[in-house]
Amino acid sequence: MTYAAKLADDGLCIFLFHGVVERSPYQVRNYTRKHLEKNAFARVLRSLQARGVPVSLELVIQHHQTGTPLPPRAFAITFDDGFENNLTVAAPVLDDFGIPATFYMTTDFIERNRMSWTDRIEWAIEQVSAATLRLPWGTRAFKTAAEARAVLDEIRGHAKQDRSIDPNVLATDIQRQLGFPETWSSDDPLDRKLDWRQVKQLAADPLFTVGGHSHSHAILSFLAPEALDREIDESCRLLDEKAGLAPRHYSYPEGLAHCYSDLVIARLKAKGVVCCPTAEPGLNDHRTDLFRLLRINVD
Ligand SMILES: [Zn+2]
Repeated sequence: MTYAAKLADDGLCIFLFHGVVERSPYQVRNYTRKHLEKNAFARVLRSLQARGVPVSLELVIQHHQTGTPLPPRAFAITFDDGFENNLTVAAPVLDDFGIPATFYMTTDFIERNRMSWTDRIEWAIEQVSAATLRLPWGTRAFKTAAEARAVLDEIRGHAKQDRSIDPNVLATDIQRQLGFPETWSSDDPLDRKLDWRQVKQLAADPLFTVGGHSHSHAILSFLAPEALDREIDESCRLLDEKAGLAPRHYSYPEGLAHCYSDLVIARLKAKGVVCCPTAEPGLNDHRTDLFRLLRINVD
Protein backbone atom coordinates (compact mmCIF):
# COMPACT_ATOMS: atom_id res chain seq x y z
CA MET A 1 0.00 0.00 0.00
CA THR A 2 1.37 3.39 -0.89
CA TYR A 3 1.26 6.23 1.58
CA ALA A 4 -1.17 8.16 -0.64
CA ALA A 5 -3.56 5.18 -0.41
CA LYS A 6 -3.74 5.72 3.35
CA LEU A 7 -5.34 9.16 2.91
CA ALA A 8 -9.03 9.09 3.88
CA ASP A 9 -12.00 11.31 2.99
CA ASP A 10 -12.93 11.71 6.65
CA GLY A 11 -9.56 11.26 8.30
CA LEU A 12 -6.37 13.15 8.99
CA CYS A 13 -3.13 11.26 8.27
CA ILE A 14 -0.08 12.48 10.20
CA PHE A 15 3.14 11.06 8.80
CA LEU A 16 6.18 10.51 11.02
CA PHE A 17 9.61 10.90 9.45
CA HIS A 18 13.05 11.08 11.04
CA GLY A 19 15.41 12.00 8.25
CA VAL A 20 16.09 12.34 4.53
CA VAL A 21 19.53 11.56 3.10
CA GLU A 22 21.07 12.02 -0.34
CA ARG A 23 22.10 8.34 -0.43
CA SER A 24 21.94 5.36 1.92
CA PRO A 25 24.92 3.10 1.10
CA TYR A 26 24.98 1.21 4.42
CA GLN A 27 25.17 -2.56 5.09
CA VAL A 28 23.30 -2.60 8.36
CA ARG A 29 22.50 0.98 9.27
CA ASN A 30 19.23 2.53 8.17
CA TYR A 31 17.68 -0.93 7.59
CA THR A 32 14.51 0.41 9.22
CA ARG A 33 14.51 3.24 6.63
CA LYS A 34 14.49 5.78 9.44
CA HIS A 35 16.04 8.09 6.82
CA LEU A 36 14.48 8.02 3.35
CA GLU A 37 16.61 8.71 0.32
CA LYS A 38 15.82 12.15 -1.12
CA ASN A 39 14.29 10.79 -4.33
CA ALA A 40 12.00 8.47 -2.38
CA PHE A 41 10.98 11.36 -0.10
CA ALA A 42 10.10 13.52 -3.13
CA ARG A 43 8.06 10.62 -4.59
CA VAL A 44 6.13 10.22 -1.33
CA LEU A 45 5.36 13.97 -1.18
CA ARG A 46 4.36 14.10 -4.86
CA SER A 47 1.91 11.20 -4.45
CA LEU A 48 0.46 12.66 -1.24
CA GLN A 49 0.01 16.08 -2.81
CA ALA A 50 -1.63 14.58 -5.91
CA ARG A 51 -4.33 12.94 -3.81
CA GLY A 52 -4.49 14.91 -0.59
CA VAL A 53 -4.43 18.31 1.08
CA PRO A 54 -1.36 19.22 3.17
CA VAL A 55 -2.18 20.91 6.48
CA SER A 56 -0.06 22.29 9.28
CA LEU A 57 -0.61 21.06 12.83
CA GLU A 58 -1.53 24.67 13.70
CA LEU A 59 -4.48 24.29 11.30
CA VAL A 60 -5.33 20.95 12.95
CA ILE A 61 -5.42 22.76 16.32
CA GLN A 62 -7.74 25.44 14.89
CA HIS A 63 -10.16 22.86 13.47
CA HIS A 64 -10.10 20.96 16.78
CA GLN A 65 -10.88 24.14 18.71
CA THR A 66 -13.67 25.32 16.40
CA GLY A 67 -15.14 21.83 15.88
CA THR A 68 -14.98 22.08 12.09
CA PRO A 69 -13.99 19.12 9.90
CA LEU A 70 -10.66 19.15 8.09
CA PRO A 71 -10.55 19.02 4.29
CA PRO A 72 -10.98 15.51 2.83
CA ARG A 73 -7.71 13.53 2.59
CA ALA A 74 -5.88 15.99 4.86
CA PHE A 75 -2.32 15.06 5.77
CA ALA A 76 0.42 16.53 7.96
CA ILE A 77 4.17 15.97 7.85
CA THR A 78 6.26 15.63 11.03
CA PHE A 79 9.91 14.88 11.80
CA ASP A 80 11.26 13.68 15.18
CA ASP A 81 14.70 14.02 16.81
CA GLY A 82 16.33 17.05 15.04
CA PHE A 83 18.63 15.57 12.40
CA GLU A 84 20.67 18.11 10.42
CA ASN A 85 19.40 16.52 7.20
CA ASN A 86 15.91 17.83 8.08
CA LEU A 87 17.20 21.30 7.16
CA THR A 88 19.78 20.46 4.52
CA VAL A 89 17.95 17.75 2.54
CA ALA A 90 14.26 17.54 3.54
CA ALA A 91 13.41 21.24 3.95
CA PRO A 92 14.29 22.28 0.35
CA VAL A 93 12.07 19.47 -1.00
CA LEU A 94 9.19 20.48 1.29
CA ASP A 95 9.70 24.11 0.20
CA ASP A 96 9.56 23.09 -3.48
CA PHE A 97 6.22 21.39 -2.90
CA GLY A 98 4.97 24.14 -0.55
CA ILE A 99 4.13 21.50 2.07
CA PRO A 100 4.16 22.54 5.76
CA ALA A 101 5.92 20.40 8.36
CA THR A 102 6.53 20.24 12.10
CA PHE A 103 9.99 19.35 13.44
CA TYR A 104 10.37 18.08 17.02
CA MET A 105 13.77 18.67 18.65
CA THR A 106 15.47 16.60 21.35
CA THR A 107 17.38 19.43 22.99
CA ASP A 108 20.39 17.49 24.33
CA PHE A 109 20.88 16.04 20.83
CA ILE A 110 21.02 19.66 19.57
CA GLU A 111 23.23 20.92 22.41
CA ARG A 112 25.92 18.26 22.02
CA ASN A 113 25.30 16.69 18.59
CA ARG A 114 24.33 13.52 20.44
CA MET A 115 23.17 10.26 18.93
CA SER A 116 20.21 8.25 20.22
CA TRP A 117 21.05 4.91 21.87
CA THR A 118 19.77 3.03 18.81
CA ASP A 119 22.07 5.03 16.54
CA ARG A 120 25.01 4.53 18.95
CA ILE A 121 24.48 0.76 18.68
CA GLU A 122 23.92 0.73 14.90
CA TRP A 123 26.97 2.95 14.37
CA ALA A 124 29.18 0.34 16.10
CA ILE A 125 27.61 -2.73 14.47
CA GLU A 126 27.91 -1.18 10.97
CA GLN A 127 31.69 -1.14 11.37
CA VAL A 128 32.20 -4.82 12.26
CA SER A 129 31.35 -7.70 9.93
CA ALA A 130 30.84 -10.32 12.62
CA ALA A 131 30.76 -10.43 16.41
CA THR A 132 29.37 -12.13 19.48
CA LEU A 133 27.52 -9.86 21.91
CA ARG A 134 26.76 -10.57 25.55
CA LEU A 135 23.37 -8.93 26.13
CA PRO A 136 21.42 -8.77 29.41
CA TRP A 137 19.04 -11.49 28.14
CA GLY A 138 21.59 -13.79 26.47
CA THR A 139 24.51 -14.12 24.07
CA ARG A 140 23.91 -13.37 20.40
CA ALA A 141 26.28 -13.85 17.46
CA PHE A 142 26.03 -12.43 13.94
CA LYS A 143 28.09 -13.10 10.82
CA THR A 144 25.99 -11.46 8.10
CA ALA A 145 24.20 -8.13 7.73
CA ALA A 146 20.84 -9.95 7.95
CA GLU A 147 21.86 -11.57 11.23
CA ALA A 148 23.09 -8.21 12.55
CA ARG A 149 19.72 -6.64 11.70
CA ALA A 150 17.90 -9.45 13.56
CA VAL A 151 20.05 -8.81 16.66
CA LEU A 152 19.26 -5.06 16.38
CA ASP A 153 15.53 -5.81 16.19
CA GLU A 154 15.83 -7.89 19.34
CA ILE A 155 17.78 -5.16 21.18
CA ARG A 156 15.15 -2.56 20.23
CA GLY A 157 12.33 -4.78 21.45
CA HIS A 158 13.93 -5.32 24.85
CA ALA A 159 15.13 -1.76 25.47
CA LYS A 160 11.82 -0.10 24.54
CA GLN A 161 9.72 -2.36 26.80
CA ASP A 162 11.92 -3.09 29.82
CA ARG A 163 12.35 -0.08 32.10
CA SER A 164 15.13 -1.88 34.04
CA ILE A 165 17.40 -1.48 30.99
CA ASP A 166 19.15 1.88 30.64
CA PRO A 167 19.50 1.88 26.84
CA ASN A 168 22.49 4.25 26.80
CA VAL A 169 24.38 2.06 29.31
CA LEU A 170 23.58 -0.89 27.02
CA ALA A 171 24.81 1.12 23.98
CA THR A 172 28.11 1.96 25.73
CA ASP A 173 28.57 -1.70 26.70
CA ILE A 174 27.94 -2.85 23.11
CA GLN A 175 30.33 -0.21 21.70
CA ARG A 176 33.05 -1.45 24.09
CA GLN A 177 32.37 -5.13 23.35
CA LEU A 178 32.85 -4.34 19.65
CA GLY A 179 36.19 -2.64 20.36
CA PHE A 180 35.16 1.03 20.20
CA PRO A 181 35.54 3.76 22.81
CA GLU A 182 32.32 5.12 24.31
CA THR A 183 30.93 7.23 21.45
CA TRP A 184 28.05 9.71 21.56
CA SER A 185 28.58 11.84 18.45
CA SER A 186 29.16 11.24 14.77
CA ASP A 187 28.98 13.52 11.76
CA ASP A 188 27.60 10.82 9.47
CA PRO A 189 24.39 12.07 7.75
CA LEU A 190 22.50 9.41 9.76
CA ASP A 191 23.74 10.92 13.02
CA ARG A 192 24.52 14.62 12.68
CA LYS A 193 22.02 16.84 14.51
CA LEU A 194 21.02 20.43 13.83
CA ASP A 195 22.83 23.10 15.80
CA TRP A 196 20.89 25.99 17.34
CA ARG A 197 21.61 28.34 14.44
CA GLN A 198 20.09 25.75 12.10
CA VAL A 199 17.09 25.23 14.40
CA LYS A 200 16.40 28.97 14.16
CA GLN A 201 16.82 28.84 10.40
CA LEU A 202 14.23 26.04 10.18
CA ALA A 203 11.82 27.86 12.51
CA ALA A 204 12.16 31.06 10.43
CA ASP A 205 10.62 29.35 7.36
CA PRO A 206 6.90 30.24 7.43
CA LEU A 207 6.04 26.71 6.24
CA PHE A 208 7.68 25.10 9.24
CA THR A 209 7.00 24.76 12.96
CA VAL A 210 9.53 23.67 15.58
CA GLY A 211 8.50 21.85 18.76
CA GLY A 212 9.99 19.80 21.58
CA HIS A 213 10.77 16.08 21.86
CA SER A 214 12.19 15.93 25.42
CA HIS A 215 15.74 16.78 26.49
CA SER A 216 17.50 13.38 26.47
CA HIS A 217 14.93 11.25 24.56
CA ALA A 218 14.04 9.34 27.74
CA ILE A 219 10.69 7.51 27.70
CA LEU A 220 8.66 10.07 29.67
CA SER A 221 6.22 7.63 31.31
CA PHE A 222 9.16 5.65 32.78
CA LEU A 223 10.41 8.69 34.75
CA ALA A 224 9.67 9.61 38.37
CA PRO A 225 7.73 12.92 38.60
CA GLU A 226 10.82 15.04 39.41
CA ALA A 227 12.83 13.54 36.54
CA LEU A 228 9.84 14.01 34.22
CA ASP A 229 9.68 17.70 35.16
CA ARG A 230 13.42 18.08 34.55
CA GLU A 231 13.16 16.51 31.07
CA ILE A 232 10.28 18.75 30.01
CA ASP A 233 11.50 21.93 31.75
CA GLU A 234 15.02 21.62 30.33
CA SER A 235 13.78 21.04 26.79
CA CYS A 236 11.45 24.06 26.97
CA ARG A 237 14.13 26.24 28.62
CA LEU A 238 16.70 25.48 25.90
CA LEU A 239 14.23 25.98 23.05
CA ASP A 240 13.42 29.37 24.55
CA GLU A 241 16.97 30.48 25.45
CA LYS A 242 18.76 29.15 22.36
CA ALA A 243 16.11 29.62 19.69
CA GLY A 244 13.51 31.99 21.14
CA LEU A 245 10.80 29.33 20.83
CA ALA A 246 7.98 28.65 23.30
CA PRO A 247 6.85 25.23 22.11
CA ARG A 248 3.10 24.71 21.57
CA HIS A 249 4.05 21.50 19.80
CA TYR A 250 5.74 18.44 21.29
CA SER A 251 6.06 14.72 20.55
CA TYR A 252 6.63 11.84 22.98
CA PRO A 253 9.97 9.96 22.67
CA GLU A 254 9.21 6.50 21.22
CA GLY A 255 5.52 7.47 21.27
CA LEU A 256 4.10 4.00 21.92
CA ALA A 257 1.02 3.60 24.15
CA HIS A 258 3.14 2.84 27.22
CA CYS A 259 5.50 5.81 26.58
CA TYR A 260 3.13 8.58 27.74
CA SER A 261 0.54 8.95 30.49
CA ASP A 262 -2.03 11.33 31.96
CA LEU A 263 0.75 12.75 34.16
CA VAL A 264 3.01 13.36 31.15
CA ILE A 265 0.15 15.10 29.32
CA ALA A 266 -0.68 17.26 32.38
CA ARG A 267 2.96 18.35 32.72
CA LEU A 268 3.19 19.25 29.03
CA LYS A 269 -0.05 21.25 29.21
CA ALA A 270 1.32 23.13 32.22
CA LYS A 271 4.27 24.22 30.04
CA GLY A 272 1.97 25.60 27.33
CA VAL A 273 2.05 22.65 24.93
CA VAL A 274 -1.25 22.27 23.05
CA CYS A 275 -0.57 19.45 20.59
CA CYS A 276 1.49 16.26 21.05
CA PRO A 277 1.14 13.35 18.63
CA THR A 278 2.03 9.77 19.55
CA ALA A 279 3.80 7.26 17.33
CA GLU A 280 0.91 4.81 17.39
CA PRO A 281 -0.46 4.09 13.93
CA GLY A 282 -3.85 5.21 12.67
CA LEU A 283 -6.03 8.01 11.38
CA ASN A 284 -7.36 11.06 13.19
CA ASP A 285 -10.11 13.62 12.64
CA HIS A 286 -10.78 17.12 13.97
CA ARG A 287 -12.25 15.66 17.18
CA THR A 288 -9.21 13.54 18.10
CA ASP A 289 -7.61 14.54 21.43
CA LEU A 290 -4.58 16.65 20.44
CA PHE A 291 -2.43 14.71 22.95
CA ARG A 292 -3.43 11.33 21.49
CA LEU A 293 -3.08 11.96 17.77
CA LEU A 294 -1.94 8.89 15.83
CA ARG A 295 0.88 8.93 13.30
CA ILE A 296 1.90 6.73 10.40
CA ASN A 297 5.59 5.87 10.49
CA VAL A 298 7.14 6.27 7.06
CA ASP A 299 9.73 3.59 6.33
ZN1 LIG B 1 12.40 10.32 18.81
